[in-house]
Amino acid sequence: MKQQLELLWELQKIDLTLKRIKEERDRFPKEIKKLDEKQSIEKEKIQKEKEKVESLEKERKQKEKNLSLEQEKVKKEEARMLEVKTNKEYQALLNEIEAIKNVTSREEEEILQILEEIDEVKKDLSKREKEVTTTIEKIEKEKKKIQEKMDQGDGIWKEQKERREALSKQIESNLIKLYNTLKEKRQGVGVVNVKKETCQGCFVNIPPQMFIEVQKTNAIIRCPNCNRILHWEGDGRKK
Ligand SMILES: [Zn+2]
Repeated sequence: MKQQLELLWELQKIDLTLKRIKEERDRFPKEIKKLDEKQSIEKEKIQKEKEKVESLEKERKQKEKNLSLEQEKVKKEEARMLEVKTNKEYQALLNEIEAIKNVTSREEEEILQILEEIDEVKKDLSKREKEVTTTIEKIEKEKKKIQEKMDQGDGIWKEQKERREALSKQIESNLIKLYNTLKEKRQGVGVVNVKKETCQGCFVNIPPQMFIEVQKTNAIIRCPNCNRILHWEGDGRKK
């Protein structure tokens, strides 16, 4: 019976590993998807700032074009001054030139402001780009790690499945049946260790006499609380 229990214990460990890998196969692709999303959000941040620089540049060009048109106008009006005959006409022209000059100086100021803003955004952008590059590198690393774990899991899965197959043949069919039933009812755990008179499946104390029986490993003994098969791993080793 001792040997049967040990085989069953090994089977349990394999089943827990398989269970973990199964959960990972469900979880890892979701984690990778989340990381992908994070990555595109980071890239978007940069994209938005680049677009802002572009639109500011466009605005600047437009304003410069306007400015040179206004400056042309001033030149033309100034040329007309030479042809003016009356004082009244002269004064009118002067007023007109003055008005245009007001406009152009305001436009010049606006262009300067835009240039400053472009500088500001560009400075921020290059800082941001560095940050985003670092973040993206980190994300890539995380994704790679998960991918490696997935590959590892696939390898372990195959190996453990084969071992399980072999083990199952060595365990009495009644015991396997009992184990499978318990496993299904109890979150994948049919056999548990006992430590310090406590079932490690439900953490309820078992009677001292029962604890002694478990240590003898002569019979299948089940936890009075959770019904699982109790396994004694010995004193020397830790769980
Ligand atoms: Zn229990």
